[in-house]
Amino acid sequence: MTESNEAQQYSFKAETKQLLNILIHSLYKEREVFLRELLSNASDALNRLRFETVTNRDVRDLNAELKIRITADKDARMLTIQDSGIGMTRQEVIDNLGTIAESGARKFIEAAKEKNTDLVNVIGQFGVGFYSVFMVAEWVRVTSRSFKPDAEAVSWYATGEDNYQVGRADMSERGTRIEIKLKEDAVEFAEEYHLKNIIHRHSDYIGFPIYIGDSKDAVNKQTSLWRTSKQDVTEEQYTEFYRQTTLDFEAPLLHIHMSTDAPVQLYALLYISSKAERSMFSLRKDDGLKLYTRNILIDEYNKDLLPEYLRFVQGVVDSEDLPLNVSRETVQASGLMPKLKKVLTNQVMRELETLAKNNAEKYQTFWQEFGVYLKQGIAASPADAESINPLLRFKTNLNPETWSSLAEYVSRMKEGQKEIYYIVGEDPKAVLRSPHLDYFHSQGTEVLLLTDPMDSFMLMGLRKYKDFDLKNVAQADVDTTQKPKGEPEAEKIPDADFHSLVDTFKEVLGERVTDVRASSRLYQSVARLADADPNANPDLQRVYKYLGKDYEIPKKVLELNPAHTILKNLLRLESGSELQTIIIEQIYDSALLVEGLHPDPSSIAARVQQIMEAALRQETG
Ligand code: ADP
Ligand code: MG
Repeated sequence: MTESNEAQQYSFKAETKQLLNILIHSLYKEREVFLRELLSNASDALNRLRFETVTNRDVRDLNAELKIRITADKDARMLTIQDSGIGMTRQEVIDNLGTIAESGARKFIEAAKEKNTDLVNVIGQFGVGFYSVFMVAEWVRVTSRSFKPDAEAVSWYATGEDNYQVGRADMSERGTRIEIKLKEDAVEFAEEYHLKNIIHRHSDYIGFPIYIGDSKDAVNKQTSLWRTSKQDVTEEQYTEFYRQTTLDFEAPLLHIHMSTDAPVQLYALLYISSKAERSMFSLRKDDGLKLYTRNILIDEYNKDLLPEYLRFVQGVVDSEDLPLNVSRETVQASGLMPKLKKVLTNQVMRELETLAKNNAEKYQTFWQEFGVYLKQGIAASPADAESINPLLRFKTNLNPETWSSLAEYVSRMKEGQKEIYYIVGEDPKAVLRSPHLDYFHSQGTEVLLLTDPMDSFMLMGLRKYKDFDLKNVAQADVDTTQKPKGEPEAEKIPDADFHSLVDTFKEVLGERVTDVRASSRLYQSVARLADADPNANPDLQRVYKYLGKDYEIPKKVLELNPAHTILKNLLRLESGSELQTIIIEQIYDSALLVEGLHPDPSSIAARVQQIMEAALRQETG
């Protein structure tokens, strides 16, 4: 190979070929997104250059304007997009354009493999990257010159088939030029008005000027929306900015636009999306906020600006107070971060409280999507519980369909009630049948239903609200001298009989229970499991069960209802008979089950069948 002709041929990786195939053949209608992808790459390259020049002045064309220029020639079917960004060396060209980066492209292939995905619908929300250019291109030539002063210009050429070529190029200025020979049926992309429309639709908020042709006026707005004063931003602009920066199709649930001067200077534009799950097509690949200083992007996914439990918040933070010669690492070290975090956290929490107050319906959507993060926040940072508490919502035994706040619960408390009661369980319907609630139902006392797995974790940090302790109904001391009104008291089994029944229970259940005894707080239920140790923590037992760590069924006291018909009938059976034994087993298993502590619920089915058979034998003689 001679100096003058050292172009080298490489072949695309298998999955790149696959992607090219899908793009070229199935996404015809959405082809215009190729421009969005190329402009977003140009904008990334410009951002990276600007970041580099903060600490490094040894840069090619140090003072060149940061911009993007598009030129189109309809007759030649040529479209050219050139940026003055960071550029690429020969090796970078091979690494970045020869294989699929971790961009949306890989996810896109996965989605394409799933039969039922409607690709044409999802493509609009997709970051498919550089290769989308082959939807419109007969061939593409990328010419690039890196910012590094000693790097030479390089060119990359491909037709979208198996191979690409890399060679030397003539280009004196820094940046990247992408020349596209448009396919015959894609010549519309050489029309200036068409290009302008596409830019308004997808790329208006790119922070660098985009010029078309020789024009000296940029076509895009290029505003830093977060630095614009609130009065000058419309609702549509907020939504559009969100859509263009996240590719989330739905409008956000909430936006928070703020600027402060003390204790730190900052501009922020934050969003809460309407769904907790990041769409698999999202442009955002991680949690975190974009951190700028004086309009320079220094971190794309900064996780130190908000506490972990607000990690679902997205958006931009820009502070003039961060020193200009920062690197991504020293940002973390600078003492400014905790200050920014405090200001931002307070604002987000305040806005959520306001939302809860002014728009209950929207808040409910928020709670259903993101409540679990806040519960986790209470578990992980109990110090923040006080600020998170007002945002919590619960279903209760008396209001099982609506969401109540702790304040609402307290306002409905009965006279003399000194504690906030809750019950923990697996499922909101099942929990309502828990024997622990017998007494509370009989008194009409309200109880919070905690049936989300995260609730058990939350309880580790939520022991008190205002002056009221939270108390698990299973452990609450209850005053059983106050009998439910109106209902005649059922007659109890005589003491001697009851004692022999207790002995039979103990024989059958053996080591599985620590004791069997009578309870005075059961009405509808036969039995309940209670903790032998008043300091036991049933919430923690459940946490262990969820964590699956060496889970053993905790040993408990089985309390029986001495007035219950089942027990009365059980006494009539022959002592030690098979039926008596399996019914005792079943009473214990059912109690475990409603407790949500049963390790293997399906094992009960076989015994239930035995009981049915026995019952039928009795009935049919
Ligand atoms: P992504 O942008 O998600 O990384 P792309 O397929 O769009 O994936 O681009 C692949 C890579 O090619 C980019 O990460 C970048 O390193 C490089 N690249 C693409 N366009 C440019 C450009 N205009 N200037 C510099 N580098 C670029
Ligand atoms: Mg890209």
